[in-house]
Amino acid sequence: MTQQPSLHIDIFTLFPGMFEGPFRESIVARAVESGQATIALHDIRDWTHDRHRSVDDRPYGGGAGMVMMAPPVVESVESVLGEDLEKTRILLMSPAGVRFTQGMAREIAGSARLALICGHYEGIDARVETILGAETVSIGDYVLTGGELPAMVIVDAVARLLPGVIRAESTDEESHEGAGVEYPHFTRPVEYRGEVVPDILLSGHHQNIREWRAAQAAEVLERRNQRETAPPGDQTE
Ligand code: SAM
Repeated sequence: MTQQPSLHIDIFTLFPGMFEGPFRESIVARAVESGQATIALHDIRDWTHDRHRSVDDRPYGGGAGMVMMAPPVVESVESVLGEDLEKTRILLMSPAGVRFTQGMAREIAGSARLALICGHYEGIDARVETILGAETVSIGDYVLTGGELPAMVIVDAVARLLPGVIRAESTDEESHEGAGVEYPHFTRPVEYRGEVVPDILLSGHHQNIREWRAAQAAEVLERRNQRETAPPGDQTE
């Protein structure tokens, strides 16, 4: 009996070629090869109706740049998802969206189908979100040229959580799995350019190591929070 893939991902984009390299390597490739994920790329231009395959137009109300028109986006998603539309989580990439988190990655990894819509130019006609019942999602507070890199980020974060793709112990204790971040790691050599691995990690005393790591993780988090709240230009420790 063939194993059913646990997650099917549809990506709607104007630049399907951008995904080729990143999806051919490492964890995403492993998730696909092991049958835990299938990924289908859809060129939104295939759902245009004019000779020029136009996907964008000037914004109503004026302003800079071009806006992706609703019809090709809506029709591409509707025709690909078909009767699965209602039960598929549809994420629309937008710097103004809800910030993507590890918690969301876990939720998606436990679902059967995901659709990602990549914007470009000034973004996508706002009616797409309503018509498709999509959620707008941001990967951080900065503006990228298009939604392709954010979509790759989301696929990567989800793929590594799919069953069997990497060992569960590797992901269970990672940063952002709870409220915290992970402790610092060290490997051979013991001494490098005068920097030495903390003695405790060489002691073989598991309880002490656990406690040390917990304390280190708290310190890392504290330093990170301080840097994030420091005024611009004052990023010193
Ligand atoms: N005019 C938009 C604004 O100010 O919010 C920015 C549009 S951006 C140049 C073009 C597209 O890139 C967006 O529609 C979105 O799909 C994607 N994008 C850019 N930054 C992103 C981010 N931080 N998270 C998710 N998507 C992003």
